[in-house]
Amino acid sequence: MTRKLFVTTALPYANGAFHIGHIMEYIQADIWVRFQRMQGHEVHFVGADDAHGAPIMIAAEKAGVTPQAFVANIAAGRKQYLDGFHIAFDNWHSTDGPENHALSRDIYRKLKAAGFITTKTIEQFYDPVKSMFLPDRYIKGECPKCGAKDQYGDSCEACSAVYAPTDLKNPYSTLTGATPVMKSSEHFFFKLSDQQCVDFLREWALGNIDNAVDGKPRLQPEVANKAREWLENDGGLSDWDISRDAPYFGIEIPDAPGKYFYVWLDAPVGYLASLKNYFDKTGRDFDAFMTDPTTEQYHFIGKDITYFHTLFWPAMLKFSGHKIPNNVFVHGFITVSGEKMSKSRGTGISPLRYLDIGMNPEWLRYYIAAKLNAKVEDVDFNPEDFVARVNADLIGKYVNIASRAAGFIAKKFDGTLSMEWATDSDPFLLTLRTAATEIQALFNGREFGKALRAAMDQADIVNAYVDANKPWELAKDPAHSAALHEVCSRLMEAFRILSIYLKPVLPELVQQVESMLNLQPLQWADVSVPMLHGHRIKPYTHLMQRVDPKMLDALFEMPEQVADTQKTHPLPGPLPEGEGENRSSANFKIEALAPEIKIDDFAKIDLRIAMIVNCEHVEGSDKLLRLTLDAGEGRMRNVFSGIKSAYQPEELIGKMTVLVANLAPRKMKFGVSEGMVLAASAADEKANPGIFILNPWPGATPGMRVG
Ligand SMILES: [Zn+2]
Repeated sequence: MTRKLFVTTALPYANGAFHIGHIMEYIQADIWVRFQRMQGHEVHFVGADDAHGAPIMIAAEKAGVTPQAFVANIAAGRKQYLDGFHIAFDNWHSTDGPENHALSRDIYRKLKAAGFITTKTIEQFYDPVKSMFLPDRYIKGECPKCGAKDQYGDSCEACSAVYAPTDLKNPYSTLTGATPVMKSSEHFFFKLSDQQCVDFLREWALGNIDNAVDGKPRLQPEVANKAREWLENDGGLSDWDISRDAPYFGIEIPDAPGKYFYVWLDAPVGYLASLKNYFDKTGRDFDAFMTDPTTEQYHFIGKDITYFHTLFWPAMLKFSGHKIPNNVFVHGFITVSGEKMSKSRGTGISPLRYLDIGMNPEWLRYYIAAKLNAKVEDVDFNPEDFVARVNADLIGKYVNIASRAAGFIAKKFDGTLSMEWATDSDPFLLTLRTAATEIQALFNGREFGKALRAAMDQADIVNAYVDANKPWELAKDPAHSAALHEVCSRLMEAFRILSIYLKPVLPELVQQVESMLNLQPLQWADVSVPMLHGHRIKPYTHLMQRVDPKMLDALFEMPEQVADTQKTHPLPGPLPEGEGENRSSANFKIEALAPEIKIDDFAKIDLRIAMIVNCEHVEGSDKLLRLTLDAGEGRMRNVFSGIKSAYQPEELIGKMTVLVANLAPRKMKFGVSEGMVLAASAADEKANPGIFILNPWPGATPGMRVG
């Protein structure tokens, strides 16, 4: 039976670039989606940026742009990550799109009509200078317990005390420094405490209802336990505050001027909005699809947002008359060598750096898949383990099968296979094909690690066959030609079957295999459809490189910022005695000043702080260095700079500089340069040689405007 699936990943907050945790989630969902498609199911897989809320509004204000421009800039950086790691979303949209405005308001209206919306007047801290209610994270003050200064409104970093923002002594707004005042305002609430909600959620989260797949409990055991805690908590479920007062970047609540939906109300509606946007663009019927009772809806999420997805989201959908999710698939976080990621300790993995230094994205897909299971467990990235699994398993056991057999087929048998021996009852192939049932069930249940283990067990059997039959020995004696042809053909058929098992994880590699084997895209059912006698394959081409362990050193070589900057580029200050004379302007001729301009002319030049994430020599150029710059845009810029005579690339990596960010991109011999970094030099370079790249004082961060 062909299933109809709607699959999403959690929506990333649009205030920064993707980190490795996002990529892990997308890889997990992408593998599952590709596997479902290989079985012939109809799958629609969408994502979107979570664009609303106070943090984005405030970040945009600081950057001097509208929130819309701010999130558009972040969105522009997404594609390189998704394409880079072979993540095949059908659509990427934004929760600020018109579909989400319409759907969120519609859901709210239906909840209101059904009696699930109530209002309450609450008191909150208010910044009288900024004229805005302050979210807790923008309030600091002295700890009520130990008196430590500059503590956040929820807990003390010095003594670990937990308290309410109103308990802080001498509270202040981190936005303006003003002393906040208490002010009351009417808020809208979703009545999660309503008995109908509680009954529904108990059944949805803990019962066995409507589970289209296998009749087992819907939620993962750890997730069900959490849900039980929340549902059976003494106080019961609390009503959920879904409104925020202007100024707020979000969706205005119908018939309530100046009131906006709290970002967490419209964020998950963004799943539906992205699907609707995709269906509208491709001429499909969104309403028909979402009201079809056979459509299944699944959300991949991280463990930190379980509460929203197992309580609010299903209840919102249920009582506004929408399809309720079949399930949420919760995963843990990613750690590095057993520790939480930390940039300052140099343990962070930047996904773009991974790609920039030429690491194969399918190595990471394979490694992450090998570590994933259906539990809510953290996944640990361990560099030695990464090298071992990719080199020993993926290449040593799988890729090598093709390299050991395909050459003989090409050289000795004109590229054609001998398959006359390949009966349905051939025990070797039968074993290999029988594994499909187990591997299929494991992929379906998101036990990717076990699925790969089972596939590699089969690869071990195939490799044992190679060692037992030694094609390289057979090839020495023409009398063994028929045997060699059979052995190598058998190996190619075995390789084809293994490729089907690995295809959800390694889409690009298996695409190369399909081309080499001269086959149409492999589907799951093709496990039992052998290549025909006389089928001609193409000559073997190299399929995949091994990991060079040095790459992992480069991956973790994280920039040290502020402290180091001060060491190599001393801050300006009084010059030591005697040095001043050399440098006085009397001693060298300065370039004549350019004609006077107005401030408006200057404002046209958009100067931004940028971090030099990477720097390298440009082959064939004795003037240029190639810089990879992060100007806080959620993407990297490639800039060529004529500073090779003055700097070694290593000196610059991790340093901040100033970028002309709105300079038109320029096509150069070595590639496109997307901007220019600022450097000083004297008019008379012979008398006063040297190029000095601009470096801001410590504290400036990528994306800040200079002016
Ligand atoms: Zn304290």
